[in-house]
Amino acid sequence: MCSRQSTMASSGPAPRLRYHNKVVIVTGGTKGIGEAIVRIFANNGASVVFCSKEETASDLEDELKSSGTGTAIYVSCDVTKEEEIKRLIGVTVKAYGKIDCLINNAGWHPPEQIIDDTSAQEFQDLLNLNLIGYFLTAKYALPHLRKTQGNIINISSLVGIIGQKHAIPYVATKGAVTAMTKAMAVDESQYNVRVNSISPGNIWTPLWKELASHSTDPNAMILQGNDAQLLGRMGTVEECANAALFLAAEGTFCTGIDILLTGGAELNYANKNQQKSGISTFDL
Ligand code: NAP
Repeated sequence: MCSRQSTMASSGPAPRLRYHNKVVIVTGGTKGIGEAIVRIFANNGASVVFCSKEETASDLEDELKSSGTGTAIYVSCDVTKEEEIKRLIGVTVKAYGKIDCLINNAGWHPPEQIIDDTSAQEFQDLLNLNLIGYFLTAKYALPHLRKTQGNIINISSLVGIIGQKHAIPYVATKGAVTAMTKAMAVDESQYNVRVNSISPGNIWTPLWKELASHSTDPNAMILQGNDAQLLGRMGTVEECANAALFLAAEGTFCTGIDILLTGGAELNYANKNQQKSGISTFDL
């Protein structure tokens, strides 16, 4: 009886692979949102090349080799270094012969900072990582993406649209990523290359955990992080990965769009006056 049941269960239709035989590059694929993106694409039949700036091979590569339906290769690449980006693209094309999708994800949010304590060099360094890194990876992937009529997905941020307290350089870099996405979509449409972005709100990742650890009361900061969404919780990395797979696989009429993956964090017009916190917007 038992064996008959298990035979019946395994003879059902195999799950549909949504990105079968496609080649995908994910920057910053070893943790957080990037890691979930690597997993979902590999599990949907893609060959994934992912990077971080670590020198050592990633455990994720071995794990996906043994369990995934696609394959994954880890490449050490610091996206602030142009030569390393060229190598990442070269390794991908050598291994798989083409690129169908580039997902720019590697980025960082510094702990809270005010303008008086922020140097031009700190701003420049964050621009190099969060913006120029996306630009250069796109630049070197595009000759290959044009051949496959592929697509680019840039992981931006909600705060690039609505701002955030004590985060001027970060907000500036993400606002620029969203704007650059649209400019790139315009230029690349002649090659049928689609370029889109995802702007997450609060997503629970190692980065969020690290930022909370810099606060005087990490638990209170996490609760505040949950309450910033209408849905009363942070988003998950899997929810981000689902949005990326949709844009790559099914969103074939989407270009230049920005998906707000925010749990409604930007909604509900309300008092935000930092000087007069008791006055509601109806009084204004
Ligand atoms: P995370 O947990 O810190 O993961 C970041 C990934 O990027 C890691 O794999 C990291 O690996 C890699 N990385 C960092 N610097 C790199 C570099 N110079 N070269 C190559 N790889 C590098 O961050 P996350 O929260 O998943 O964030 C991912 C993206 O989503 C970022 O662009 C972030 O701005 C954006 N985002 C996050 C949230 C959120 O709430 N979490 C919200 C909006 C937008 P190594 O450090 O080991 O190299």
